[in-house]
Amino acid sequence: MKVRFWGVRGSIPAPGPETNRYGGNTACVSVHTSTGGLVIIDMGTGLMHLGNALMAGAFGKGQGRATILLSHAHWDHIQGLGFFAPVFIKGNQFTVWGPGGSPDALEDILEGQMDPNFSPLQTLKNFSAAFDVWATPLGVPFDAEGLKVTAREHPHGATTALAFRIEEAGRSFVYASDVGYPESGPTPDAIEFYRGADTLLHDTTYIPEHQATRRNRGFSCYEDAVAAAISAKAKRLVTFHYDQDYSDDDVDQIVAACKRSLDPHGIAVTPAREGDELEI
Ligand SMILES: [Zn+2]
Repeated sequence: MKVRFWGVRGSIPAPGPETNRYGGNTACVSVHTSTGGLVIIDMGTGLMHLGNALMAGAFGKGQGRATILLSHAHWDHIQGLGFFAPVFIKGNQFTVWGPGGSPDALEDILEGQMDPNFSPLQTLKNFSAAFDVWATPLGVPFDAEGLKVTAREHPHGATTALAFRIEEAGRSFVYASDVGYPESGPTPDAIEFYRGADTLLHDTTYIPEHQATRRNRGFSCYEDAVAAAISAKAKRLVTFHYDQDYSDDDVDQIVAACKRSLDPHGIAVTPAREGDELEI
């Protein structure tokens, strides 16, 4: 699997000179399979840039297909959809697995953001590509472009978000963004889901001091991510979903703190940074 980061910021895009190094776009990660398949995780504003890149290949000719895994429908995970060029090309095909419990419920959620009050697109029906929406089964593996995907629902403030465990040929990549654990930290069922992951991409929105005053928002601090990586015996932690108010220098501090804690355990730390690619 090749994982690439198109948007790594949390909550709202944060472009500007202080966020240039890690990037200001919101959540979007692509996974290219060893057989040429494409899985996209989350549709934050980074999706626009992924879409523009894809237009140079089969998607530009209406011959592309991909599976999209949607963790939840907060703005920073869906706002790229209306600007994703491949959905306006007839012949392209997208299979979307997301939250909501039923395909109709998820379609209603996504349709809501196309309402003329929010978007000139008016309705999902204006997409030219096939855009099939499915409710993600929990705890039961399903196929996505040849990858084995298992989903788990975790608390996220007043709602929930899905985490995805993605496996190919014995290698595993876990995507766990927007995770609001109880104050005691990662729960045993979450650890079990992350168990032995080659790469654990985990919410590191906050430093502990800021998390303490914003518990109701349902995000992790880097200490939660570190605890999860150690307990689950992950081989690598990827930091992700940085708070919109954090500069690149602030993110550097988060990454350095993770490294200090994980080096003694032999767990690598890789910060998610727009444009970077990771072989898993
Ligand atoms: Zn988010």
